[in-house]
Amino acid sequence: MTNTAVIITEYVYLISIILFIVGLKKLSHPDTAKMGNLFASAGMGLAILTTLFYPIETETNNYMLIFAAMLVGGLIGLIAAKKVQMTAMPEMVSLFNGLGGACAMMISFVEFYNYPAGQSLMNGQILTTIFALFIGSISFTGSLIAYGKLQGSLRDSLVLPYPKIINLTLLLVIIGISIYIVSLPELSFVWVILLLVFSLVYGVTFVTPIGGGDMPVVISLLNSFTGLGAALAGLIYGNQVMLVGGILVGASGTILTILMCKAMNRSLLNVIIGGFGTSGGASGSSKDQNVKEATYADLAIQLKYAQKVIIVPGYGLAVAQAQHTCHEMEKILEAEGVSVKYAIHPVAGRMPGHMNVLLAEADVPYPQLLELDDANREFPSTDLVLVIGANDVVNPAAKDDPSSPIYGMPILDVAQAKGIVVFKRSMSTGYAGIANPLFFNAKNSMLFGDAKVSLQKLITEIGNA
Ligand code: NDP
Repeated sequence: MTNTAVIITEYVYLISIILFIVGLKKLSHPDTAKMGNLFASAGMGLAILTTLFYPIETETNNYMLIFAAMLVGGLIGLIAAKKVQMTAMPEMVSLFNGLGGACAMMISFVEFYNYPAGQSLMNGQILTTIFALFIGSISFTGSLIAYGKLQGSLRDSLVLPYPKIINLTLLLVIIGISIYIVSLPELSFVWVILLLVFSLVYGVTFVTPIGGGDMPVVISLLNSFTGLGAALAGLIYGNQVMLVGGILVGASGTILTILMCKAMNRSLLNVIIGGFGTSGGASGSSKDQNVKEATYADLAIQLKYAQKVIIVPGYGLAVAQAQHTCHEMEKILEAEGVSVKYAIHPVAGRMPGHMNVLLAEADVPYPQLLELDDANREFPSTDLVLVIGANDVVNPAAKDDPSSPIYGMPILDVAQAKGIVVFKRSMSTGYAGIANPLFFNAKNSMLFGDAKVSLQKLITEIGNA
């Protein structure tokens, strides 16, 4: 009977794994992403239920505790997911990721706690548990620091002296303790606690020196660590669904980290030790240079008589929640015979795919979105570019100024267009905290104000023009 039950649960686990993989595949396109999320959630639900009924020989009955924890955790997750603003998504991902790391850490800790006395330590099981404890702990405290930095409660100026030396020393201490634990004739719990403490501290010292501007990359990296931690926990328990789920998270986190670094033209090492975004940043304004200000009436006429317009959305569009108004204006212009497209920079906004999600929410058809290289080819033949709430992703310093922290990052080269209008509230900087020479370009005018309000006024003017 037990054997049959084990075989059935293993098959259900296989179905869960298939649901994860199909879900992940569907997540790679905006049209199918919602369905992908549902598939992956169904897979996870099935895996949890199956685990609850997995036949094990146990004397205690923990069902009440498990259901209570699931209820509390599920409720917190549901409320947080419903309440979170799109712009605060990286913070939430960071927090949830940290909790995943904490789970891997606790599983390993409990395994050590329950380790049979007198049993030899020279085995793969102990090494796996040590590694899971280390990885889970870094993910936990590292994600909490990343959360604090994204939220603004932890400032980048809070940097320890000699961070590289501290990190290297801590890493060597952790390796030394791990080797010592394995070399002992029997498990010493005191050393396990020391390993735990040093690993937790390492998570803090690893993330603290990294600039706030790089936090999304760090979160993606920590996410891959958490996946690895979960996979190791799957190995500890011999649980296939946990192992495959962890591997999928680990692999996708790694791919995403690489893609984000590539989009910023930086190596992962440069992100970790580069301190990008820590400088505090120069103000976007300059006493010696003047900017031109656009007027609604002029802009409305220019737009109405343009043949080709490209909109560059950025983080500010998300803050203003102006995506629907923007789509409304785009439809009005198209009805007037103007070709309107959107140029999407891979790191526009605060998370990968942020602009795609935002525009999909406003029902902007996917074929209307141009990727970076295609957009750059189209700018020279474009009459007017509307930069709405974007800043760093159109900063020409990335191309022209070798001393700039963002030098080398591919940008949307809007200066190639015949005219540019930047929609933002002030002359302040973007996330990287650096001045933007585009604002002073002779072809550029600024339209100051909240993006949504500005677009609403512009729609009225287009109607009057
Ligand atoms: P930025 O952060 O560079 O600029 C956004 C601009 O929006 C600000 O200058 C701000 O100016 C303006 N803004 C804010 N609120 C409003 C509003 N209500 N109405 C109008 N404008 C507003 O955004 P980008 O999208 O150009 O660049 C993204 C940045 O994030 C890059 O530095 C990128 O490297 C970084 N990043 C993003 C990642 C991702 O995955 N997307 C990953 C890693 C890093 P003002 O205050 O004057 O209005």
